[in-house]
Amino acid sequence: MTEKYLSKHFDLEKICEGVYAAIAKDGGGSVANAGFVDLGNQTIIFDTFNTQQAAEDLKSIAEKITNRPADWVINSHWHGDHIRGNQVFENSCIISSQLTYEKMKEIHPSRISQQKQDIQGLKNYIESLLEKYTQNNDASLENQINFLREMGASLPTLELVLPQLTYKNEMIFHGSKRSVKLFTLGGGHSFCDSLLYVPDDQVLFMGDLLFVDCHPSFFDESSPKKWVHILKQLDSMDIEYAFPGHGPVGTKADLRKVIDYINEIMVIAEETNRDEEVNVPSKYQNWRSPEIYEQNINRLRELNRLL
Ligand SMILES: [Zn+2]
Repeated sequence: MTEKYLSKHFDLEKICEGVYAAIAKDGGGSVANAGFVDLGNQTIIFDTFNTQQAAEDLKSIAEKITNRPADWVINSHWHGDHIRGNQVFENSCIISSQLTYEKMKEIHPSRISQQKQDIQGLKNYIESLLEKYTQNNDASLENQINFLREMGASLPTLELVLPQLTYKNEMIFHGSKRSVKLFTLGGGHSFCDSLLYVPDDQVLFMGDLLFVDCHPSFFDESSPKKWVHILKQLDSMDIEYAFPGHGPVGTKADLRKVIDYINEIMVIAEETNRDEEVNVPSKYQNWRSPEIYEQNINRLRELNRLL
C-alpha cells in the first residue's frame, strides 16, 4: 500500500478490487483486525478496533480509497477490540446482531467507567512494566507497553456507541457494483458471532470465529462445540479468502485448522487432570500468543467441571 494509506495501528491489504483487510499491528491501538468493502455506491466497514485512534485511521483511509464516508459499520461481536472505535463512526449506521447489541449494552458501560476511573492505575502499571523492560528488553513486553499506552490514550475521551440497527439471522446489502451478506449462525467464540460474505470474490470476513497462525482465544461464553459446528457449516461455502479477527488473511485450510485445534484441545482438557501442565502441541508451536493455549485448557477444564 502507498504511503498515504499507512497507519501505525494496522497494515492495509487489498484482498481484491474494493475489498480491504486492515491487519492489526503488534502494540498498536487496533488489537483485532477490521476491514471494509466498497459496494460501488456504499461502503461497509467491518469492526472498529480497540481504540478511537486506530478507528480514525481506518475511517480516513477507507474514505480516501472509496471517495465517500462509510455508510454502514458492522460490529462482529461484543468484545472491546471489535467495537471500541465505534464513536468515530457516529455518522454512519452501526449494525450488529440483536444479541451482540444486548451484550454490548449490558457489559461495556460499567467496564468502561471502571477503566476511566483508574487511568492512574493503568499509568502506574505501565511504569512498572517499563522498569522490567529496561532490564530485559523483551519485545513482547514492549508490545504490551505500547498496547497499554494506546488504551491509556483512548480512555479519557472514549464513549460507548451502540449499534443503531440490529438484525436476527441475515441481511443483504445491495450496492451498485456488488451485494454482500451479513449473517450469523449463532455464537461459538462469543455469545453471537457475525460474518460478512462477499460472494463475487468469495471473501468471508469471519471476526473471531477465525484466528490465523495464532491461538484462538476462548472466553467464558465460548462454546467450543458450537464453534466447531459453525465452522463446519462455513466449510461448505465457496471461500477463497477467509479473513480472521486476528492474524493474516487466510483460506479454508486455516478454518479447518481451527476446527482441528478446538477438537484436539477439548480432548486434552478432558483427558488431563486439573493443574496438570500441558505443552503446546508441536504443530501449533509457531502460532502466536502461545500463552493462550494454557488459558484455553483451563477454561475448558472449568467448563467440563461445570457440566
Ligand atoms: Zn473476540
